[in-house]
Amino acid sequence: MRLKHVKGAEEYIASSEHVVQDYKKHKGCWNEYFGNNNPIHIEIGMGKGQFLMQMAATYPDINYIGIERYSSVLIRAVQKKEELDLPNLTFILIDATEICEVFGEKEIDRIYLNFSDPWPKARHAARRLPSRQFLERFRVILSDDGQIEFKTDNRALFDFAFEEIIPGGFDMVQYTYDLHNNEEMNVGNIMTEYEHKFSALGNKICKYIIRKKICI
Ligand code: SAM
Repeated sequence: MRLKHVKGAEEYIASSEHVVQDYKKHKGCWNEYFGNNNPIHIEIGMGKGQFLMQMAATYPDINYIGIERYSSVLIRAVQKKEELDLPNLTFILIDATEICEVFGEKEIDRIYLNFSDPWPKARHAARRLPSRQFLERFRVILSDDGQIEFKTDNRALFDFAFEEIIPGGFDMVQYTYDLHNNEEMNVGNIMTEYEHKFSALGNKICKYIIRKKICI
């Protein structure tokens, strides 16, 4: 994502009630933060939050947390959310490398990775969110039947992600190289901002769903 600096974004985010400021204090007790025992789903690299806002409106009995590392991006999601009534959605400004400091073991039921940055240079492979280095972190915070759903139009990134599943401690549940023409996997699909953009250009959308391998 090309980053355009938004003046005042840091201050805006730091004082917003839609962004959890003291996120480390909720580690292991996010259900208390939401005031219920509903499942918790997170999107890592949520961008401007279009996908999560639609998910939260569609599924009020699921708690959603959006993770984004840039305040100039997150501010757009916060400003949109201010106009909506979505008590089951909140945001955190962090880099995903910190994820295990924010959530306790097995606290999360689903992780969405949508159109993650490809980091095309081989030496940057560990920065890719579906890399084994990140999958190992995600294993810790996911519940035993927790799943990761990953979508991208970048075939090279998808092929890389495929190879990372087993070393990262996961098993394949389902995949497609053409989500929008896969009747079964496309049921209930909520499009992300990037998904709208890239499918309008004619790009096919790849998706996998993986689950934690229990005995490794
Ligand atoms: N998920 C959105 C969508 O599908 O429309 C946005 C996709 S955009 C290409 C990727 C986003 O992930 C960017 O906003 C970027 O800042 C964020 N991101 C990338 N790496 C991240 C990391 N390590 N931690 C948190 N956010 C990250």
